Amino acid sequence: MMSKLVDVLFGCTHPRYSFPVTLRGAARRSPAAALTGTYVVCLECGKEFPYDWQQMKVITSPAERRQYVASLATKQAA
Ligand SMILES: [Zn+2]
Repeated sequence: MMSKLVDVLFGCTHPRYSFPVTLRGAARRSPAAALTGTYVVCLECGKEFPYDWQQMKVITSPAERRQYVASLATKQAA
């Protein structure tokens, strides 16, 4: 009941995700998968999100996405 109300007010809260799917090479057509090579799908609304296997977390917000890209750049520079 509460969660339905939240859905209406704020849109999908992505409460459940599929198992992470890893794509390789040319199969990286999804913008979500392009970031980490792995993505999950929200089982409620079907939206795709990049998934970080190292940190075992879903990257949902633009801020997290920027942070992830920044940390990748740091690794490549080192
Ligand atoms: Zn969702």
